[in-house]
Amino acid sequence: MTIDGYTRTCGLIGNPVEHTLSPFIHNTLAEKLSHNLVYVPFHVEEGQVLPAISGAYALNLFGLNVTVPYKSQVMDGLIQIDELAEKIGAVNTLVRMEGGFKGYNTDMPGLYRAMSSEGIQIEGQEIILLGAGGAARAVAFLCASKNASKVYLLNRSLEKAEAVAGEVNEKTGKEVIYPMALSDYHRLPNQKFLAIQATSVGLYPDVDNAVIEDEAFYRKIHTGYDLIYKPSDTRFMQLVRQQGGKAFHGLKMLLYQGIIAYELWNDLSVPEEMALEVYKVLKEKMGI
Ligand code: NAP
Repeated sequence: MTIDGYTRTCGLIGNPVEHTLSPFIHNTLAEKLSHNLVYVPFHVEEGQVLPAISGAYALNLFGLNVTVPYKSQVMDGLIQIDELAEKIGAVNTLVRMEGGFKGYNTDMPGLYRAMSSEGIQIEGQEIILLGAGGAARAVAFLCASKNASKVYLLNRSLEKAEAVAGEVNEKTGKEVIYPMALSDYHRLPNQKFLAIQATSVGLYPDVDNAVIEDEAFYRKIHTGYDLIYKPSDTRFMQLVRQQGGKAFHGLKMLLYQGIIAYELWNDLSVPEEMALEVYKVLKEKMGI
């Protein structure tokens, strides 16, 4: 690509950002769509998030993604927050407006688009959700808002599971999330579930671990969706497959959260074939 006086800039703020795959998503899209823009990662030190947002606005950046640990903190520096992001309590995409940035959450619709593209349905399903961190909270909102029939939310610390379940049930007006301690997994009903793995256990370099090791647990899973994409074949996925279930990693979620951000920034729809071409680039970068 050629950078000239007309090149528009967007990027990612977080800490760390050095291993991000997001530039490959956005710069590939820009190339395919012949957009004169560039996406750059910005490493922002703790305590510098609000100055970073003001600086980005002053420098005429048209959009930013936000990653850990700033998805909540960033909300204090915005002039407007989309209703969905407000409910989830996390913003991962900033869109430039007159006078400042508006915050969105594209992680949750990204996961939904990723699951739909694999033929995985949430509506009417009984779901096991592992974890109660930032990602799991967004998944719990997704499941409740897409009318899952029941979600068993299992977390190592029960208080966090209870807090997330209480908040999601209240904000969606549904009694659909049931909090449980992770160690109580044997109390889950004897049936087959869609299981969504949203803990950080198994994330590179901790590749030999799964949050639950017991085979009996995996016999209850018909489909396992791990939000982790590095490695692309997690121990959780292997355990699901060993008991006859289908298993997916989170790279498509990453893809679609990026595609949706790009759509918001540029006010367009990325055709599905193009999204899949970008996915090919991501898989090549991951060596899969
Ligand atoms: P987080 O807020 O730090 O939450 C971590 C979760 O993992 C908590 O529920 C925590 O339980 C649990 N956990 C950590 N160590 C554990 C252990 N040894 N045993 C049992 N539970 C443990 O992290 P997050 O932001 O939600 O991210 C979670 C995962 O999702 C990460 O692996 C991240 O890479 C992935 N993710 C993927 C995408 C994507 O685009 N594919 C997007 C976002 C996140 P406690 O509450 O008990 O500590």
